[in-house]
Parts: sequence; structure tokens; C-alpha cells
Amino acid sequence: MRLLLLAPPGAGKGTQGERLAAWSGAQHIAAGDLLRAEARTEGRLGREIAAYQARGDLVPDQIVLELLTPAVTEAAALGGYILDGFPRTLPQATAAAELAARLGVTLDAAVYLYAPEEVLTRRLLDRAHQSGRADDTADVIRHRLQVFAETTGPLVPYYTERGILVAVDADQPPDSVTADIQIRLSGLTRTGTFS
Ligand code: ADP
Repeated sequence: MRLLLLAPPGAGKGTQGERLAAWSGAQHIAAGDLLRAEARTEGRLGREIAAYQARGDLVPDQIVLELLTPAVTEAAALGGYILDGFPRTLPQATAAAELAARLGVTLDAAVYLYAPEEVLTRRLLDRAHQSGRADDTADVIRHRLQVFAETTGPLVPYYTERGILVAVDADQPPDSVTADIQIRLSGLTRTGTFS
């Protein structure tokens, strides 16, 4: 299975990504986690990444692609991937499509998790004290939601036009969201979209 999760901060894409990976056997690739791991190395690139993340700005496409391409390539060879937080810009989406074509694979679905902005803000503020993340402060959360709306939002029509968007209401308990995604993906299997 090859999926991507398209979701604003707080929608639960990390949780759902892990569950979908366990369910499908595909590898969970979380862009934010990979970038945070690189940031912790405190090299020149790591410090640059940490600064973007702390502000809630997107890390430049070129850096993201350099980190993500090997992970996606490896997962594609091992039976699939759940991309969590990548692609997040239109240029990243184009690059991801080119990479998939090079690898001879196609994306089965782009799962869009949506929830009202007040719900997302409340969830992020609630978990802020335990996340230990520099970007979980009220100001940065507001900015991350704005960046999602402006820069990542256009991927919703992009994948709708390609016929693979699966929109799921994320304003429900985690188990219900997982169940909804699985039902929708199983529907795709029955209509033969999955190989
Ligand atoms: P959230 O979606 O809650 O903001 P993530 O861990 O997915 O959490 O992302 C955290 C930060 O990592 C983003 O604000 C951004 O700085 C960086 N990031 C993650 N994925 C990408 C990406 N595909 N392109 C650019 N920056 C990214």
C-alpha cells in the first residue's frame, strides 16, 4: 500500500500513520520526525532545520527532498509506505510524483484528515506540555495552522483532480477515525484501485 496523509497540525496524522502502517504492513515515514532527528544532530544542516521548525515555517523543499527521497525509495522496495507530512507543498508533490514514476510505483490514495480550527488548536495546546516540542506554543501553533492553510491546502484540489483524495472527518475519537479510513481504503480495494 502506498498512501500519503494530508492533514493540518493537530489532526492526528502521526497517530493514524502509525496505525495504518501496522495494519497494512507498509512503512510509516513521518517527515517531521525525520527532520527533528536531523535537527538533533546539531550539525549545520540540523541547526538550520531546527530554526525553521521552531518558527513553525516549512523547511525548504530541497532539504526535505534530500532527506525523504532515500527513505521513500527504500520503503517502496520493501512493500509500500504511509507518508505522514510529505509532500506538504506543490513542488514537493510534483517531486514525489516524479520519484514514484522513477520507482515504477503509483500512489493509492491521499488521505485528507480535516477538523475545525478550534479543535486543532485545542488539541495542540492540550498536548503542548507533554510534547516537549519547541513549536507547541500558542503563537507558533497559530502560524503552523496558517502555513497549512496557505501552502499545504492547495494539495487537496491537486489530489482531488488526480482522483485519489479520500477525505475523512478527524473530529472524532482516534479509533473512529482509523475505522473510517480503513473502510474507505477497503472500498478502493473492492473497486480495484489497489493492486
Ligand atoms: P505538525 O503537522 O503538527 O506541524 P510535523 O511533525 O508533521 O507536525 O511537522 C513539524 C514541522 O516540521 C513543520 O512545522 C515544518 O517545520 C517541518 N516539516 C515537516 N514536514 C515538512 C515538509 N514536508 N516540508 C517542509 N517542512 C516540513
